[in-house]
Amino acid sequence: MPIDNALLHMLPVAVLVVQNGVIKEANPVCLALLEADATEHVIGHPLSEFIHPIDQRRSQERMAQRASLQERGTPSQAAQYRVHTCRGRLRMALVTSVVVEIGGEPCLLVCGTDMTHQSEIEAQLLESDRNYRRLFENMQDVYYRTDAQGVVLDVGPGVRRVLGYEPEQIIGRTAESYYPHSADRDAFKAAIASHGEVADFPGQMVRKDGRVIDISISSQAIFDAQGQFAGVEGIYRDVTQRKNLERELHRMASTDTLTGMANRRVFLQQAQAAFDQARSRSEPLALLMLDLDHFKHINDRLGHLEGDRVLIDFAQAVQTLLRADDVVGRLGGEEFGVLLPRTEAHDGTAIAERILQHIRSLPLTDEQGQRWRITTSIGLGCMRATDRGLRDLLDRADQALYQAKRGGRDRWAVGA
Ligand code: GH3
Ligand code: MG
Ligand code: MG
Repeated sequence: MPIDNALLHMLPVAVLVVQNGVIKEANPVCLALLEADATEHVIGHPLSEFIHPIDQRRSQERMAQRASLQERGTPSQAAQYRVHTCRGRLRMALVTSVVVEIGGEPCLLVCGTDMTHQSEIEAQLLESDRNYRRLFENMQDVYYRTDAQGVVLDVGPGVRRVLGYEPEQIIGRTAESYYPHSADRDAFKAAIASHGEVADFPGQMVRKDGRVIDISISSQAIFDAQGQFAGVEGIYRDVTQRKNLERELHRMASTDTLTGMANRRVFLQQAQAAFDQARSRSEPLALLMLDLDHFKHINDRLGHLEGDRVLIDFAQAVQTLLRADDVVGRLGGEEFGVLLPRTEAHDGTAIAERILQHIRSLPLTDEQGQRWRITTSIGLGCMRATDRGLRDLLDRADQALYQAKRGGRDRWAVGA
């Protein structure tokens, strides 16, 4: 059967016709695979010229075997060969061949597919697999899966970093053992039971070294083929740093940086809560407003920095005189507020008097070692049934403070 060259040239795979080891015909796809600019770079050349030395022997044995008459018409099994191109590059080709008769002569019809690209894909796959494993090993999150009873079936290697345990030490145990507060675990279970999943669910866990860490869990319930609850799957991560930062931010936002006591915003919030509670329980509530006397002079005499130190001393001194549930805050500058729950006017004035005495007797010395004193004025307001809101109580204490100042300072006055 004569070979149909037109058909050969249209085939989308690389085809060679080899006779006695010499290439007789090559289609365009084959020339492209071999990076040949002209047919004469391939045709007339021995096939072995294009085979990598590693694969030479294998290729020759194969050809000798194929040449035997019995093999005629049966395609060989595909095999990979390293191929040298005309430009000296290496390619990987997947080759099959069949022995045919052309012009009464046995010829080898060789079909090749360029596998170089596939090898690249394989390398990429291998690389991506390696990356995936590296990521899995190093990821901050701990993957886990439990059965319906909460027994851990699988846990990722991240658990070494987060809890300090080997995965094998965790598998087969329930998560309960790592929760310092069982209420956290119960809340998690309840959330999974009612929503089927949780995202960024807060909690704490105990590490192997005993350190308690803040964690965040994102998980979902898993169900078996019958729709029965079969366990939980998800991740948890150590969020201690973030939580510490949040706690610090919260502290910064709610406390006065100089004295460490509640700032104006938080004091007014607490005052509102105390006001509402006192009213609902029909309990008395007293409010003191304190303003240091002639503080401008203190700043002028000692400097602003020393003035700051006086404010700190003053704040500490006031706090030592108060009960645990009294609330004190810095309203601004050298002005402070004190809330006295369950306190009548009579007891409020007694506390005000005590504060005045204590402040008067604060032992302060300037840079020259000279002793000096500070005083404060206090306005006392008491909650009344007719008050429309906290504002009325604050205004009453403010007016009383003004009275105390006008009356000569270093004294208290009660708002009318
Ligand atoms: P009075 O007895 O009438 O209250 O006199 P006073 O000088 O205290 O007057 P006023 O309350 O109007 O002024 C308060 C001064 O306190 C003004 C300001 O320079 C000073 N001050 C306010 N905040 C700070 C602070 O954080 N640090 C220091 N060192 N001084 C402050
Ligand atoms: Mg003042
Ligand atoms: Mg003032």
